[in-house]
Amino acid sequence: MENNIKKIRHSLAHIMAEAVLEFWPKVKLGMGPAIENGFYYDFLLPKPLEEKDLEQIEKRMQELISQNQKFEKQNITKRRAKRLFAIQPYKLELIKDLPGENVSIYTNGEFVDLCKGPHIKSTKEINPKAFKLVKIAGAYWKGSEKNKMLTRIYGLAFETEKELQDYIKMQEEAEKRDHRKLGKDLKIFTFSDFVGPGLPLWLPNGAAIIEEIEKLGKETETKAGYLRVKTPHIAKEIMYKTSGHLPYYADIMFPPMILEDDPDGSGTPKKTKYYLKAMNCPHHHQIFAAEMRSYRDLPLRLAEYGTCYRYEKSGELFGLMRVRSMEMNDAHIYCTEEQFANEFLAVIKLYFEYFKIFGIEKYVMRFSTHSKEGLGKKYIDNEKLWKKTEDMVRNTLIKEKINFIEVKDEAAFYGPKIDVEVWSAIGREFTLATNQVDFAVPERFGLVYIDKDGKEKTPICIHRAPLSTHERLIGFLIEHYAGAFPVWLSPIQASIITISDKHSDYAKKIEKLLKENNIRVELKNNNETLGKKIREAEIQKIPYLLIVGDKEISANAVSVRERGKGDTGQMLIDKFIDKIKEQIKLKK
Ligand SMILES: [Zn+2]
Ligand SMILES: [Zn+2]
Repeated sequence: MENNIKKIRHSLAHIMAEAVLEFWPKVKLGMGPAIENGFYYDFLLPKPLEEKDLEQIEKRMQELISQNQKFEKQNITKRRAKRLFAIQPYKLELIKDLPGENVSIYTNGEFVDLCKGPHIKSTKEINPKAFKLVKIAGAYWKGSEKNKMLTRIYGLAFETEKELQDYIKMQEEAEKRDHRKLGKDLKIFTFSDFVGPGLPLWLPNGAAIIEEIEKLGKETETKAGYLRVKTPHIAKEIMYKTSGHLPYYADIMFPPMILEDDPDGSGTPKKTKYYLKAMNCPHHHQIFAAEMRSYRDLPLRLAEYGTCYRYEKSGELFGLMRVRSMEMNDAHIYCTEEQFANEFLAVIKLYFEYFKIFGIEKYVMRFSTHSKEGLGKKYIDNEKLWKKTEDMVRNTLIKEKINFIEVKDEAAFYGPKIDVEVWSAIGREFTLATNQVDFAVPERFGLVYIDKDGKEKTPICIHRAPLSTHERLIGFLIEHYAGAFPVWLSPIQASIITISDKHSDYAKKIEKLLKENNIRVELKNNNETLGKKIREAEIQKIPYLLIVGDKEISANAVSVRERGKGDTGQMLIDKFIDKIKEQIKLKK
């Protein structure tokens, strides 16, 4: 968030509290920070709020803004602050928790708030048409269920009216494209109480999309020299202790299963803990370790569409975007230091290839690096190697003119990482995937290769998943395409619609022909009216509707209705097959 707009948003929170206090002088004030795209303030109100209250508050805020109120900061003793906020229990609690003898307060107009700032100088800096109160929600004081539920009022705020209107429009469009709604309407995925929350079930339409994405991933990876592997979904505790995931990531892993068995036939069964895998890397490391490796074997690129399980809190689950089981376009590249730059660049180029296919025009690579202070705590204590790897990554990004931003102190434990953020067609941002450079874990597992000089060396490992997980990617693509998938990805690519019953045989012949050409097709030859059948297929966003009647039969043709274009006339059946196959081949 840019500094000035952040100050404006936070100042609007104060002004909102000022207005609310005028309407209900007994209100108890919680906290009111700036947030992404706006601000909120929490209140304990004597009555529940309604929509029309928001209008009133908003109107009063506009009046207060036009008064050119100044924001003035003052440092006062805690004793004075306690007197000042004597009837504000939440403020008193905050004062008690703050360190030091003094606290700072901000005054604007009649309103005083406990606040460390910063704020704008005066309400002159606020465009009264560039903010809007949008939502009332319940929020526990300090986010804890043990505390009272307060009323939170959310506002949007920008520097210009246009930015506000654009944002509102984007939100409305995002609502229409909500992947949870479209995913249901288009029969892509579902959830079941019997299976459990966060565990999506892919319906035939969803599975068709997955098949295409996997095909794309596998073809590209084969061309790029990856080898495919397969690994089980569980592993012993010792594996995750060695990788370092336990105990540090224990809370994102499902609780262990305890098995009692006798693997060596000694007659005394042993108890062993097994975990569902939360990541595929340790399994792949074991494949690397399965053979003696020489520098000639590197780079070794092991790829797997691996299913992982993560124990996300139930409150944080969200459609396909936050789930407990996910299938990842995973791969691990084991290479030497000399090979690193090339391998890393090849991964970045894979992203660009995919961006082009999916029509992703805006992206940014967030390059997260270590901090000196974190060495030995948050990060593996090897400054030389950190510097070296980060330089290699940074130099590659700069040399290739790749759009990136560098964020200090957000790297992974074992190396720098790149988060790939993309924007959907309506301008909403998604974090799609992460690339990580790992120079530590291979060592923990004792992975080595024999170098030219006959000495054992530890490889560097690149973790990458350009096609993300199926869940996240398809969640994104549903919004991106508004459910109207391009032909190659469409679960049903063509729908054959008969004008009447007597055209059924011809329709079935065409269905068979299309299937023989690997085109995903459905046949609508029920007794519904033609209009209804067309409408149904259009709601399903099927790219081609092929209408057949007497005229089409005599011409050995179909009448084509193309999604977004309407009726495009009659076409010989062979011609149509050539056309759609070409589109599928070109991933259109
Ligand atoms: Zn403030
Ligand atoms: Zn990994």
